[in-house]
Amino acid sequence: MTDTLQKFMFEHAGVRGELVEISDTWQQILSHQQYPQAVKTILGELVAASALLSANLKFDGTMVMQIHGDGPIKLLVVECDAELHIRATAKLAPDAVVPDNAGLSELVHAHGNGRFVITLDPNNKLPGQQAYQGIVPLDGDTIAIIIENYMMRSEQLDTKLWLASDDKISRGMLLQKLPKTGGTESKVEDETEAWNRAVTLGSTLKQTELLETDIDTLLHRLFWEETIRVFDPQHPSFRCNCSREKVGNMLKMLGEEEVNTAINELGKLDINCDFCGKHYGFDKVDCAQLFVATTLVEATTTPGDSKH
Ligand SMILES: [Zn+2]
Repeated sequence: MTDTLQKFMFEHAGVRGELVEISDTWQQILSHQQYPQAVKTILGELVAASALLSANLKFDGTMVMQIHGDGPIKLLVVECDAELHIRATAKLAPDAVVPDNAGLSELVHAHGNGRFVITLDPNNKLPGQQAYQGIVPLDGDTIAIIIENYMMRSEQLDTKLWLASDDKISRGMLLQKLPKTGGTESKVEDETEAWNRAVTLGSTLKQTELLETDIDTLLHRLFWEETIRVFDPQHPSFRCNCSREKVGNMLKMLGEEEVNTAINELGKLDINCDFCGKHYGFDKVDCAQLFVATTLVEATTTPGDSKH
């Protein structure tokens, strides 16, 4: 089974939908990471949500969803680009205890200090162009509710999300009321009725059913009475764009002193990518080379800083 995202549209109703199932990609994400069950569920739901939201964006770049937690989960990151290349990782507190049935709030917002940020990072930034960032209030106990609230508040878009995830698969469905465009003859009451009808049908979907049923079957089972237009499916896949250069830049940001201390202590720096597990080794010579260019620049730009 390939990972698939299926867009569809309710004819004459001003409602669009998407179904996604992510299996291969999800298992590649999990293949080198060990997480408690409740963390896997939340990260998997976030992965499905990122694909559903990215597929609706007319945006050449990467959507980054980050939840900085103040409880057992310190960080959840999911990145999804316009071609639905996805990577994701989670970081737990060192002493984290995570019960299987732990909810989102207690894991990331235990003391009311959790932060959820969605960043749209364009691929070819123009000089001075900033990535767009939206702060998503953690005002619900599921990823679905939190994102529904956010879409309503920030985009004024009626959105409904259904998300489910286990070790094997992550599935999701999105329904969204299309923004009213001028020139259509449909009345507001008709559109509201069509939206309510779509949501009522969608709401018959149980979480276990979403986990166990392929999206073709779900689409027909839920909406067989409706006239639905189906678009060409898209295929999410795993991709990590880590590189030796990026790891080197990260070390540069730590600073020469810190890197030297570590290398003197350990002899060699072994760094594994959090997203794909790829190993990058930096020995003493590699580390020295990182700072050669920087040192030269500093030496020429800070003549006043002399040491004796
Ligand atoms: Zn990587």
